[in-house]
Amino acid sequence: MSGLDTTALDNLRTALRGRVVAPQDPDYDEARSIYNAMIDRRPAAIAQCRGVADVRTTIAFAQETGVNLAVRGGGHSGPGLCLIDDGLTLDLAPMRWVRVDPLTETVQVGGGSQLGDLDHETHAFGLGVPSGINSTTGVGGLTLGGGHGHLTRKYGLTVDSLIGADVVLADGSVISVSEKEHPDLLWALRGGGGNFGVVTSLTYRPHPVDTVGVAATVWPVDRTQEVLRWYREFLPAAPDDLNGFFAIMAVPPGPPFPEPIHGRKMCAVIWCYTGDLTDGRLEDVLSVVNDPAPPAFHFTTPMPYPALQSMFDELVPKGLQWYWRGDFFDSIPDESLPVHERYGRALPTALSMMHLYPVDGAAHRVDPGETAWAYRDAMWSGVVAGIDPDPANADVIRQWCVDYWTDLHPFSMGGSYVNFLGEAEGPERVRSTYRDQYDRLTAVKRTYDPHNFFRANQNIPPSAA
Ligand code: FAD
Repeated sequence: MSGLDTTALDNLRTALRGRVVAPQDPDYDEARSIYNAMIDRRPAAIAQCRGVADVRTTIAFAQETGVNLAVRGGGHSGPGLCLIDDGLTLDLAPMRWVRVDPLTETVQVGGGSQLGDLDHETHAFGLGVPSGINSTTGVGGLTLGGGHGHLTRKYGLTVDSLIGADVVLADGSVISVSEKEHPDLLWALRGGGGNFGVVTSLTYRPHPVDTVGVAATVWPVDRTQEVLRWYREFLPAAPDDLNGFFAIMAVPPGPPFPEPIHGRKMCAVIWCYTGDLTDGRLEDVLSVVNDPAPPAFHFTTPMPYPALQSMFDELVPKGLQWYWRGDFFDSIPDESLPVHERYGRALPTALSMMHLYPVDGAAHRVDPGETAWAYRDAMWSGVVAGIDPDPANADVIRQWCVDYWTDLHPFSMGGSYVNFLGEAEGPERVRSTYRDQYDRLTAVKRTYDPHNFFRANQNIPPSAA
């Protein structure tokens, strides 16, 4: 349907504690803006839910009116899954809260929270939950897709620490999910995305994390092949305490990078070390960075974990143009090396990049049957992202991303991390994300959302397509 009846909207406004923002409201453009400015959609309304009651009312409203519903956590999805033209966005942003319980050693997080909220609260207890590398990303969307970041090799994926959730289903019922209650749904939430209901809170088992060792090593882009050849051997053999994601990028124009290399195209590894930081141990562990080629710059520093988590926030603020695509890799074969170097040299804009995030270490030691995440045998989760502030460059960054991805795809495992699927990649790509977990996910979908009410996502239909 297109548009919403004014009386119906007024009724929704009356019923909610949160606000309902519609096109005639002065803050409509702000309310519909999301992280990726390439997405410009005009929902019929945005229901800013303040609690479970608001979520239930909004779902009931969508069921009664037949309006298409999308759910917004942190609003960071690349393809803008939380916005539908003429649809209704159920916005969880007002539900940002975190409660650390030191007695049960658990952390409960509101469904609209951001990673920074989680890190800030857990840090006060010397704890942390493994998540992603930008503090403004939504805990909800990141977790439901799997979640990888600086602590993956040490403590696994975000879903490996997820032990429970509260979920509002399509019929409005509210259920608590745990290993004991609805274990099939807990399994599906561990990677199956937003397909099953609105997750109003998530519960995690946190881990000890405090000050971590942070390092960045950058080499000229024309050394990409030597560096990748070294990196693919060094990191998998390194202890789990060391995480290091590989990047092709332009050097950011600010400290700690020296001015002469600002803006230069480079390949890099961003390191996070959770081991012993005394007596220059990190420097020892990384003394090998000269092996592939002399770095253009290398620095190490201790940092509180939340500071590392927000280190890239200023570099990529909300409102840039983004176009991304991903794939999993179990190796970095020789034949793929020239592809990386070629597209690195052709980096179209200062912010565009390619990242390879390690998903081995602790993530490999989780039984593949325990979560819906279907790539326990992958070594890296890769993403190519064209990024720029200027909408005039949208076509250029899109084309670079698609070309790079297309040339790299033959060296991949065939599927992508669900949260790195881009716009309109189609149902086959969703299937390849879930491989042999797909049929089980379909069965869980049939149990909890048999009419596919929640379909503004990387959709898993209740019956085989
Ligand atoms: P939204 O757009 O709000 O939601 C995305 C999807 O999740 C939608 O389908 C939505 O319906 C669903 N959803 C969100 N919350 C809920 C909920 N509470 N209940 C039900 N469904 C929900 N990923 C990583 O794993 N590691 C990283 O390091 C990483 N870095 C990133 C950095 C940036 C700058 C960006 C833009 C993204 C990054 N990502 C990373 C990808 C990120 O995990 C996805 O974009 C994810 O979808 C973001 O979740 P969100 O809640 O912010 O997004």
